[in-house]
Amino acid sequence: MTTAPVDVDSARRDYAALVGRGLSLDITRGKPSPRQLDLSADLLTLPNGRYKAEDGTDTRNYGGGAKGLPELRRVFAEALQVPVDQLLAVGNSSLELMHDAVVQSLLSVLPGGERRWADEPRVAMLCPVPGYDRHFHLAQRFGIELIQVPMTEAGPDMDVVERLVAEDAGIKGIWCVPKYSNPTGSTFSDDTVRRLAGMATAAPDFRIFWDNAYAVHHLTDDEPVLADVLALCAEAGNADRAFVFGSTSKITLAGAGVGFFGASAANIAWWSGLVAKRTIGPDKVNQLRHALFLKDADGVRAHMRKHAEILAPKFAAVDRILTEELGGSGLASWTRPAGGYFITLTAPEGTAKEIVRLAKEAGVALTPAGATHPYGDDPADATIRIAPSFPEIGELEEAVRGLVVCLRLAVAERA
Ligand code: PMP
Repeated sequence: MTTAPVDVDSARRDYAALVGRGLSLDITRGKPSPRQLDLSADLLTLPNGRYKAEDGTDTRNYGGGAKGLPELRRVFAEALQVPVDQLLAVGNSSLELMHDAVVQSLLSVLPGGERRWADEPRVAMLCPVPGYDRHFHLAQRFGIELIQVPMTEAGPDMDVVERLVAEDAGIKGIWCVPKYSNPTGSTFSDDTVRRLAGMATAAPDFRIFWDNAYAVHHLTDDEPVLADVLALCAEAGNADRAFVFGSTSKITLAGAGVGFFGASAANIAWWSGLVAKRTIGPDKVNQLRHALFLKDADGVRAHMRKHAEILAPKFAAVDRILTEELGGSGLASWTRPAGGYFITLTAPEGTAKEIVRLAKEAGVALTPAGATHPYGDDPADATIRIAPSFPEIGELEEAVRGLVVCLRLAVAERA
């Protein structure tokens, strides 16, 4: 990339003016905006006196299905590409299910495994980077070693993944956000999914943590179709390889959602046996109101189009400002995702931390530089995650213009 020189004096003047405005803006986390939450306002009154599930279960009481209500599992089976009888609706978010999956794998021998992960001399997970910080923190908290692999536009670099998992039996899993990935927005290609499903792994109990958080979160009408990981794993003779996760967090109410876990019949039996010790059952009233509200897969599609109407102009605004301010300068590149919640901005090497620091001083909160990498360490110090969803468009535009001012100053002072 040829980088245009930045004039230090004008960069300093622009930054001083930015600080002088006393902004207080936040584009750190991928939260839905209040307008998006309003789309699900009906959930605040549903189930409107009803409490019987379709099979007559009294949702107010204990009992009636630890798997979650069939009518809700049916709504999400298509989007998550999991047969209904292998899909559980449990908990109020997917992160807690990923946490439980890691903990249960540490403490109980997985189908296909020889011993508990906790009894292995070493447990490591592959982390495509840039990736989602909460995956990394979760694994790190249990002493799991994090190994970076590069992301490409088609998913993780499979040449690297295949080589590592074939030779190292300590590698027990890989974190994947297969559609509109956090934070690059890329969707795994069919070839990537097929190779993940079929690759030879030294660990017999290797698991793909398939976090399909953005399965239905399109920003355009051009919706990529993700290959069916469970089917491909089964076809390749690795039926137990994938754990599929999803949730309604960014579909309905992020703070009052439903989590989903999908896997092979053997994995589901393993999970259900363990979870029966932990809970008598999920929140069926919440599941009932979600089923009544969303109705079916078409209901989800129609609802997500309303989200897209709110979100797409925000993503477009970020792209427009970055193009106006930085296009052709060689100072940065950024992603133009067709879905999901994030844009990745790649700044010149060695500047991301300084950009984030300058922005903070100027009242623009950005996700900490390095958060997209294991141990908070982006070796190139170049990746910045932009989360456009929460602020209203005027504030978002101000924040992105402020970010550009900080980028220019960081580059100018480094030169
Ligand atoms: N996975 C990914 C990739 C995410 O970006 C997020 C939210 N930022 C989550 C999971 C969290 O989802 P939940 O609310 O279902 O725990």
